[in-house]
Amino acid sequence: MTIKPAIRPPAPIAVIGLGNMGIPMAACLIRAGFQVTGFDLSQAACDAFRAVGGRVAPNAAGAVKTAEVVITLLPDGRTVGAALEPLKEDIRPGAVIIEMSSSEPLGTQALGAAFIAAGFPFIDAPVSGGVRRATDGTLAIMAGGEADTIDRVSDVLSAMGKSIFRTGKLGSGHAMKALNNYVSAAGLIAAVEAINIGQTFGLDPNLMTDIFNASTGRNNTTEVKLKQFMISKTFNAGFPLKLMAKDVRTADSLGRALGVPTPLADRCADLWDDAAKALGDKADHTAIGLYIDKLKTND
Ligand code: NAD
Repeated sequence: MTIKPAIRPPAPIAVIGLGNMGIPMAACLIRAGFQVTGFDLSQAACDAFRAVGGRVAPNAAGAVKTAEVVITLLPDGRTVGAALEPLKEDIRPGAVIIEMSSSEPLGTQALGAAFIAAGFPFIDAPVSGGVRRATDGTLAIMAGGEADTIDRVSDVLSAMGKSIFRTGKLGSGHAMKALNNYVSAAGLIAAVEAINIGQTFGLDPNLMTDIFNASTGRNNTTEVKLKQFMISKTFNAGFPLKLMAKDVRTADSLGRALGVPTPLADRCADLWDDAAKALGDKADHTAIGLYIDKLKTND
């Protein structure tokens, strides 16, 4: 078996999806010396990428035709499949596909297997850290797939992330990402409910937060969200509620597909979905308390 060479700057890279994450991550690749061509269905997104010095192709086929690496940063796995399938004839033979969206792991395994069979190495490498760490190039990246392929694109991943975890087989990055966000989302709701109960009883929410953080109730929400975005009611942590709802549902569906009992994830996924419907597309995930407050008054 011939070992393929590592992909290093100034190799050409296509980034499909120039949204909140796509633009800062593509900008990191440009800073690392890669030749990046982006594409997005939204004209506004293309214009925003041009404004930070990015090159935009007129269509997805134009973005991928010379790229050695094709990165997808799209809303979900279904969108990724619909975007990539028609490009099989256009993508440069042997190009590596890195699926960096937060997608459904079983769907990723099927999509990736089809591309690998067509001669395109394929890994999933979703990210955690939000827009701020995407901008700094310090994301946590969870890479699933063949170790050789991950080795070949290690310079590409390190241009965008500080911690690169190898999670195992194809789809395992996507499974890990969804499960991480499920744990985070469940902890956030627990913190909201505890603050509501405590405040109604007469406890001070800021003091409660300090005590959580010095005690066993500490979690990511108590440390970096309660005071900063929730008690202060700014609700601008930068991660949309609809994306958290998607991730929790992905974790719950994976458990169900595998026959693993998930009584809390079932309830949690329903709550996040209902809140996403009630609060709309623009709501930040830290605003879920507004939805939970309504349940309180409706009881
Ligand atoms: P976004 O909605 O800001 O961007 C997605 C972009 O994809 C949009 O600009 C949209 O126009 C474009 N698009 C949709 N279909 C397309 C197609 N067929 N071809 C080309 N472009 C298309 O989303 P985002 O916040 O950038 O998130 C991207 C992915 O990263 C999601 O899967 C999300 O769950 C994940 N993620 C987001 C964050 C975050 O903080 N925003 C953090 C971690 C992971």
